[in-house]
Amino acid sequence: YKDDRGIEMNIVYISFGSNIGDREKAIEDALDLVNQNEMKITKRSNIIETEPYGYTDQPTFLNGAIEVETELSCREVLKRLLQIEKEVGRVREFKWGPRLIDLDIIFFNDEIYDEEDLKVPHPDMQNRDFVLKPLCEICSGFTHPILKKKVSEL
Ligand code: ADP
Ligand code: MG
Repeated sequence: YKDDRGIEMNIVYISFGSNIGDREKAIEDALDLVNQNEMKITKRSNIIETEPYGYTDQPTFLNGAIEVETELSCREVLKRLLQIEKEVGRVREFKWGPRLIDLDIIFFNDEIYDEEDLKVPHPDMQNRDFVLKPLCEICSGFTHPILKKKVSEL
């Protein structure tokens, strides 16, 4: 939408998770950095504790979701999120493995991206309760642009 200065604003839904170290601190650090990176957090879910997904022999996660307003493009948001993951000290060992902080773009407006390193809406979000539950608190009425279902229905 256009804000009151007539500037095009994007609405982005981002899910976050952490399962090693000081999980609360990693999340707070990451969200502070989001706010310092030309993204304004406008809504924030509660944080829930969930069992690991994929590779299950690892500690439990804290998960949540935020709504962000930004002038940045989707690709720029991805770039910033990966930088923030690094800055918070994530060691990327293997897919689905333990992580200090994981930040995933779930929706970017109602736009669709299907590129090697950028898939939006996140292609597995509808199968993940730890994404859907927090999202439901902040955007239950948002319609998935491919599945054409509301988050509350998913
Ligand atoms: P996952 O989050 O699937 O468990 P990773 O965080 O290790 O796994 O994967 C990171 C890679 O996923 C990034 O390098 C990024 O290019 C790619 N990627 C593709 N689509 C997205 C998205 N919607 N949000 C975040 N990362 C994405
Ligand atoms: Mg990720």
